[in-house]
Amino acid sequence: MSETKLNLIAGNWAAGESEAENRNPSDLSDLVGMFAQASTQQLQDTLDQAQVAQLEWAAYGLERKQSVLMNIGNELMARSEELGALLSREEGKPLAEGKGEVYRAGQFFTYYAAECLRQLGENADSVRAGVEIDVRREAVGVVAIISPWNFPTATASWKIAPALCYGNAVVWKPANITPASAVALAEIIAKQDIPKGLFSLVMGSGRSIGQQLVESPKVNAISFTGSVPVGKGIATAAIQNLTKVQMEMGSKNALAVMDDADLDLAVSLALGGAFGGTGQKCTASSRLVVHHAVHDSFVEKLVAGTKAMKVGHALEAGTQMGPVVSQQQLDENLAYVDLGLSEGAELACGGARLEMPHDGFYMSPGVFLNTTNDMRINREEMFAPLTSVIKVGSYDEALSVVNDTKFGLTSGIVTQSLARSTHFRRHARTGVVTVNLPTAGTDYHVPFGGRGDSSYGPREQGKSAAEFYTTVKTAYISAGTPS
Ligand code: NDP
Repeated sequence: MSETKLNLIAGNWAAGESEAENRNPSDLSDLVGMFAQASTQQLQDTLDQAQVAQLEWAAYGLERKQSVLMNIGNELMARSEELGALLSREEGKPLAEGKGEVYRAGQFFTYYAAECLRQLGENADSVRAGVEIDVRREAVGVVAIISPWNFPTATASWKIAPALCYGNAVVWKPANITPASAVALAEIIAKQDIPKGLFSLVMGSGRSIGQQLVESPKVNAISFTGSVPVGKGIATAAIQNLTKVQMEMGSKNALAVMDDADLDLAVSLALGGAFGGTGQKCTASSRLVVHHAVHDSFVEKLVAGTKAMKVGHALEAGTQMGPVVSQQQLDENLAYVDLGLSEGAELACGGARLEMPHDGFYMSPGVFLNTTNDMRINREEMFAPLTSVIKVGSYDEALSVVNDTKFGLTSGIVTQSLARSTHFRRHARTGVVTVNLPTAGTDYHVPFGGRGDSSYGPREQGKSAAEFYTTVKTAYISAGTPS
C-alpha cells in the first residue's frame, strides 16, 4: 500500500478525515497514490492561519518575495521531466505535453518573480492646493484557488504565482482527480522562505470542501477554472459575502478555414487544436468552420490525419493522444457521439471506445461532418476528442458562425488574406483570437480570458492579473510647508 499524501494545513502536513485513491487513466492497474481529504475543521484552521500569515508576507521586502517565486519557478523548470511524467501518469496527456506544462508552470513563477519588483503605482496633484495623491495596489488578502484537472499544474500556477506576487495568502483546492501534481507543487512551495500557513493545500471533493471554501467569509477573493454550472454556483456563494471572484469556464472555440488557406497548415492546426490534450482543453478547436471551396480537400486531409493519430498510454513513446481522464468523462464523450448521430451529423471516423493492451479510458479521435451550428454538438462544450466541420459559403458567413455561440474564449482564422485576417481579428467576439495559429496555446505575459459564458471577472495572466489580486488605495497627503 502506498503512503498517503497529506494536505498542507496551517503550515503543517496533515492527514485528512478520509483518503481518496488516484489511478492512472492510461492503465487502471497503476495506483498513483492515496490522498488525504481535508476536513471542515482543517479548512477553518488553515483559513485562520492564512489571515495571520498574509499580513506577515505582505510586509516582506520585494526582493525576498521575488526570490521565493524565482526559486519555485526554477525548481519546476529543472524538474519538468520528472514532474511532467507524474502529471501525464495521472492526467493522461502524452509525456511531451506533461513536461511542457510543468516547464510552463515554472515560467509563470519566474515571470511573476520579476513582477514583484515592478509594483509601480501612480501619483498626482490633488485639485486641492498643497495636497498630493498616491495611488497604490495592496493585496486583497486570502485567496481561494479552485483549479481543474486538465491543466493541473499550469492553471494552478497561473493563479498561485500572481496571488503570492501581490502579497496574498493562498488556500488551494485542486481537482481531486489530479492530486499528485498538486502535492508535488505544494511541496515545492512549502519549503520556501514563506510565513507558516501562507500557502495551504486542501484536497477533497469540490462539492464538500470546495463548496465550504467558497462560502467562507474568511476568503477575500476566489479564482476558479472549470465548468459553467460549478462556476455559477461559486459566483452565487461568493456574492453572499461580497467576495471578489474571477472565473474561466468552458468554450466552443471555432477555427475558420478560408478558401485561400494553406490547407496543410489548416489541417495541422485543426488536428493539434482539436485533439491535443485529448480535446480536454477550454481552448480546443471543437468547431471547424470551412469555406465550401476547400471543404472537400480539407476534410479528406483532416480525416486521414485523424485516422493516423496514435492513441496510447500517455507515457509510451510515440503516443500522440492519451486516454480520456475518467470513466465519467468517457461516458459523456460517447453520449455526445450518439447525440451527434441522432442530430443528423455524419461521423467520418473515430468517436469509439478503444480496447488497448492496458485497461484505460481510451477512445479514438472523431470527426463529425455535415453539421450545422445549431446542433447541440456545436453548442455545448464536449471536452472530448471530437470536432465538427461546419461548411460555409463565404468569409462573412464564417465570421457569423464563429460568433454564434454563448461562449467566447478563443477563435482562429486560417487565411493568406491580410484584409480578412485583420477584419477577423477586429470582429471575432472572443477574448483571444489567432491568425494562422491554433486556437489553443497562449503566452503567460499577456492577458488570458474570454467573453460570454467563458469568463467572468478580471482577466488572468500578464499584468492584468494585478486587477484581481490587488485592491487599489488612493492616499491624499498634505505635507504642509517646510519651516
Ligand atoms: P468542475 O467544474 O466540476 O470542477 C472544476 C473544479 O471545481 C475542481 O477542482 C472541482 O473539484 C471544483 N468544484 C466542483 N464543485 C465545486 C463546488 N461546488 N464548489 C467549489 N468547487 C467545486 O469540472 P469537472 O472537473 O467536473 O469537469 C466537468 C466539465 O467541466 C468538463 O467536461 C468540461 O466541460 C468543463 N471543464 C472546463 C475546464 C476549462 O478549462 N474550461 C476545466 C475543467 C472542466 P473536484 O474535481 O475535486 O470535485
